This record gives sequence, structure tokens and C-alpha cells, in this order.
Amino acid sequence: MNLEGLQAVRYCRPMPELPEVETIRRQLEPWLDGCVIKKAQLEDALDGPKYAHLDRATGQQILAVGRRGKFLVLPLSRGDELIIHLGMTGSLGPERPTEHLRVSVQLDGHDRDVLYFRDIRRFGRFLVLPGGDRSGLPTLSQMGPEPLDEDFTGEVLWHGLRSRTSIKARLHSQKPVAGLGNIYIDEVLWSTQIHPLLPADKVTRNQATSLRHAVVQLLKKAIERQGTTLRDYRTITGVEGDFGDSLNAYGRAGAPCPRCCTPIMRIVVAQRGTHFCPQCQPEPRKRRRR
Ligand SMILES: [Zn+2]
Repeated sequence: MNLEGLQAVRYCRPMPELPEVETIRRQLEPWLDGCVIKKAQLEDALDGPKYAHLDRATGQQILAVGRRGKFLVLPLSRGDELIIHLGMTGSLGPERPTEHLRVSVQLDGHDRDVLYFRDIRRFGRFLVLPGGDRSGLPTLSQMGPEPLDEDFTGEVLWHGLRSRTSIKARLHSQKPVAGLGNIYIDEVLWSTQIHPLLPADKVTRNQATSLRHAVVQLLKKAIERQGTTLRDYRTITGVEGDFGDSLNAYGRAGAPCPRCCTPIMRIVVAQRGTHFCPQCQPEPRKRRRR
């Protein structure tokens, strides 16, 4: 990582986004798919909205290891779903962590027979949803289309952007498209030359088509490189993602824009540090008052 990138590490703690969660999903799948859960137990964590109904998992077989946006979704054999969200600092793996262990899941039929969930900052979630009822997780239940599905078109994205909020905040809501967070939103807005404060409903159909293309290309490349590690994220084998050195805007405040050499600016939008090029991503005109 370059020096400008290191500046970012001091002021933000990025959350795992779609490429990081998909990397973990792909590693978990050959291990967990088909396993029967002998017992899922809380360690240093309290039963509550973030860790609920774990006792229901006992005796259920894991039917698949899926992903929806930034959530891991594991359907179980009696109709429940095991939902895992890594929050800011969550990690999963077969090695027992020495601290911040929240959940352990004993599995049958494999040599790596315990899955551990570690989480330093406690923003993660690990819960069993009876009957797959997602109504208690509005972000998940109201989530927009998966960006790598074929039916995610420019037109679908354009419709999802019909909102007067800023494009940055709208993409964060997960409603126009699932799985993007601070890093990849800043990157797709830089690559499509859209200012982060542009009202989402000012995005034209042509811009939505370019934005959809940029989202798909960026996510595919980031998944190939196992995601972006700026601080906490690791794959289940403890390896860092190495997409960080491909970032053009995120975390590069003051460094030259790779397209026009103007220094990248950092502002706060929707309470999040936001990076953009003031030259390539022109400021939106103010709406006229009626
Ligand atoms: Zn520029």
C-alpha cells in the first residue's frame, strides 16, 4: 500500500463489502456445505438481536453457503436460515482465536470440525432465523438486486436511484443494488465521473448504464484479488485481500487523481468519509427553488 493509502487507515475502519464477503463465502462453501451442526454456542457474547436462536441450529444440516449483499446466508435443513454479518471486524475460520471469540459452531463429519466467529468491535451478527423470517433484518429484507446477477441492468439501477438523496447515500442504502459500501461506492463514482453529492434522481439513464457497468467490472476484479484489506479484513485462511493498491479515489485524499492529476478531495457525505476528484467529478448544480 502506498503512503496516501496509509493515511486512510488512521481515520476509518472499512467494513467488508461484497468482494470480501464473497471471497469468504467461496472459501467456506467446500468446508461447510452438507455439514450437520452439532452445536452452535455463544462464547463472549450475549443472546439478543445480534445473536439469536443459536440453539435451533442443533441437528440441522447446512444445505448451501449463500450470500446476499454483505450477508452470508446458510439455509438449514428444517427451514431455518443461519445469517452471518461480519460488521466491521468480524472474521470466520477454523482456528480458535485467542480473544474476541463470540460464537463457536461444532460440526460433524470433517477434520476441521469447529467454525469460530471472532469480532473485535461487536458490530457483527450471527443468528438463526426461524423459518427464514427476515423481517427483523430490514437491510436484508429490503435489499435491492444482486449486482452480479444477469437481471441487474442499467434500467433496473436507474429505477432504484429515483430518490432526492445524494447518490452516495442512496447507494449505501443497499436499495438500488446490494453489497456496495464506502470503498467501492467511492471507486465507482470516480470511474463514472459522478459527484458523490449529486442527487440520485439526477442520474440519467446513460449514467446509470455506465454506473452499472462500472459496478460489475469493479466487483469482479476485486473478487479476483480476494477483496481489499486496509485494516481488519482477512480471508478464512488469515490472508489479506490485495485489491487495495488498485484503488483510485478511496483513502487517497491529497494524492493526484490517476486520470487528471488534481489532488483527490475528502468530504463527509452521509456521515462517511468520501473521496472524489473535484476536477473529473464536477459539483452538481443546485436545485432551483420553486
Ligand atoms: Zn481527476
